[in-house]
Amino acid sequence: MLQGKEEGLGEGKTVLATSWLSFPQVKGVPRGTPLGGNIMAGKIKVGVLGATGMVGQRYIKLLEDHPWFEVTYVAASPRSAGQLYKDAVANRWLIGAEIPAGVQNLMVEDANLAEKAIGKCQFVFSALELPKKEDIKNLEAAYAAEGIPVVSNASANRWTEDVPMLVPEINYSHLDVIADQKKHHGWDKGFIAVKPNCSLQTYMMPIHALIQAGYEIKRMVVTTLQATSGAGYPGVPSFDMIDNIVPFIGGEEEKTEKECLKILGTVKDGKIENAAGPIVSSTCTRVPVIDGHTACVSLEFGDKKPSMEEIEKIWTSYTSVPQELKLPSAPEHPIVVRHEENRPQPRRDRETEKGMACVIGRLRPCNVFDIKFVALSHNTKRGAALGGILNAELLKAKGFFDNL
Ligand code: NAP
Repeated sequence: MLQGKEEGLGEGKTVLATSWLSFPQVKGVPRGTPLGGNIMAGKIKVGVLGATGMVGQRYIKLLEDHPWFEVTYVAASPRSAGQLYKDAVANRWLIGAEIPAGVQNLMVEDANLAEKAIGKCQFVFSALELPKKEDIKNLEAAYAAEGIPVVSNASANRWTEDVPMLVPEINYSHLDVIADQKKHHGWDKGFIAVKPNCSLQTYMMPIHALIQAGYEIKRMVVTTLQATSGAGYPGVPSFDMIDNIVPFIGGEEEKTEKECLKILGTVKDGKIENAAGPIVSSTCTRVPVIDGHTACVSLEFGDKKPSMEEIEKIWTSYTSVPQELKLPSAPEHPIVVRHEENRPQPRRDRETEKGMACVIGRLRPCNVFDIKFVALSHNTKRGAALGGILNAELLKAKGFFDNL
C-alpha cells in the first residue's frame, strides 16, 4: 500500500527532484552544461547514514540528479550492511516506484564504522536512529574526527553548544560557530551541523518573520498534528493509527518548547546563546496522515501589535539568504499564505514549493492571545531530508566544503 504512495493526491502533486536544470551552476562548470557527463566531475561525493530508513530513502531520492551532490556511499545498521542497497530496501522502498539507478547497486556499509567512509565520500547526511542518543552523538563526532563533515537530522547534537541547529532562512549566521567547534575538538576538515525537530519547521519561519519585523512574541501555544512518517518506518502500528489520534509523542513537546530558543539565539564566545523567549506551551499528537505536519498556533505579542494586513505582508514578502544565493533547494516563497477557510491541508498543500514552504491559513484574532493560525509543512522534505540538503547547500555556498 505504501508503494507509490505519492501518486493520486489531487492537488498535492509529487514534485521530486525534476527541476534542477533551472538552478545555479556548479563552481567551475559552465551554466547550461547538460546534467550528467562533465557536470558529474564537479559534484561533491556524499554519504547517507541511515540510508535505508524513512528519511534516508528521501535523501536517496531527492539527491538523484542534484546539481552539486552525488550519493556515493550508503550506510545503515549491521542488519543491512553487506547487502546491495536495492536488496536492503527491497520490501520497504517507500518513495515512488524506482530506486535511483546510481544507488541501487551500492553496497550498504555499517554506519557504526566511520572509518569505512574515508575516501568514499566527502561529507555525510546523518539520518540515523539508534537506541541511545549518546551513541549517535559519539558516532557523528567519529565521522567529524575522520575529516568527514556531518549534516544531521538526528536530535543527539541539537543541544551541543557549538553545533549550529540550522533553518537556513533564519539562523544562517550560526555557521560562525563551526570554526570554534573545529577548534574545540581539534578537527581539521570535519564538523557537525544539525537540523531542528521536524514539527518546528511548520511555524518557525512565520515566527521569525514577525520578530525580524520588530514584533516581539511573548508567548505561544502550539498544538501539532503530526504525520505517521515522522515516526520512521514501520513506525506506529496501523492498529494505533487507523481511526485514531495518539495524543503523545515521546520527547516531542520538550523539543518543540526548547529548540526554538536555540534557533533564535546568537553566537557568543564560541557557542550559541539561547534567546530569552518566546515562552512556548505545546501539545504534540500523531494523526493518520502519511506526510505533512500541521500546527495550530496562538501568539501573544509584546506591546507593539501588528495588524492582520501587516502580518500577511510580512509573511508573503519573507525571503532570506537561501533565496538570495539561489540555493538549489530553496523555495522561492518560503511562506505561502492561503485564504480558503479550509486550508492548509496535508494532502493538498504539503508539496507547495517542492515541499519546502510553510503554508499558512486561517489567520484570525485570538480571544486569549493576539492572533492564531494553522501552519503546515512537509515533515520528510522541509522537516527532514530536503531541509538537510538545503543546510548542505548553504554550507557549500559559504565555502565550508571547499577543502574536502
Ligand atoms: P527510521 O525509518 O527508523 O530509519 C533509521 C535508520 O537508522 C535506518 O537506516 C536503520 O538501518 C538505521 N539504524 C537503526 N539502528 C541502527 C544501528 N544500531 N546502527 C546503525 N544504523 C542503525 O528513522 P527515520 O524516521 O528515517 O529517522 C531518522 C533520523 O531522522 C532520526 O534521528 C529521526 O529522529 C530524525 N528525523 C526524522 C524525521 C521524520 O519525519 N521521519 C524528521 C526529522 C528528523 P536499518 O534499516 O538497517 O535498520
